[in-house]
Amino acid sequence: MERCLSKLNTLITSEQIETKIAELAARIREDYHDRNPVLVGVLKGSFVFLADIVRVLDIPLGIDFIGVSSYRGRMESSGEIELIQALRTPIAGRDVLVIEDIVDTGLSLNYVLNVLRQKTPASVKVCALLDKPSKRKITVPIDYSGFTVPDKFVVGYGLDFDEQYRYLSHICYLEEK
Ligand code: 5GP
Repeated sequence: MERCLSKLNTLITSEQIETKIAELAARIREDYHDRNPVLVGVLKGSFVFLADIVRVLDIPLGIDFIGVSSYRGRMESSGEIELIQALRTPIAGRDVLVIEDIVDTGLSLNYVLNVLRQKTPASVKVCALLDKPSKRKITVPIDYSGFTVPDKFVVGYGLDFDEQYRYLSHICYLEEK
């Protein structure tokens, strides 16, 4: 084993997440309550965030998922984005809100936005729980942003390291022991 990365340090508590979701949902509800948007969760990391925010939103909406991969268990993006699960909902003429766990280099989100825009939706906006701007390689729009996080590898609340830690109800950063 090269390194032991199992020391977890809390960065954002579950209470802070709950408060932030209420704030984001209030803004999204105001903008989308009469538009029946399609929320597109970017797999896998967004599944917890999406599940929580739709229940607080409490407005008519559709839900679908798109799967992209760039990490493959490492802590640095490979830079090569791969579509691993296509959207199934027809979104032509619909208002789409992309739900992201974290925007790091921006390459995944940029890829997702290009895929979605080719399907001629009425609009596409982005809601990201976490924004890690220090490693950004491409400018991407984040219309609803939760927390700005430092240049650390974070896990929990849907985010993993090698498929571990997704179940945590709070967000931690991993450190070498
Ligand atoms: P980007 O393409 O913006 O570099 O990375 C986006 C994706 O990489 C996220 O959706 C997430 O799956 C993963 N990612 C980026 N930074 C982190 C991080 O700090 N922790 C975890 N667990 N995943 C990350």
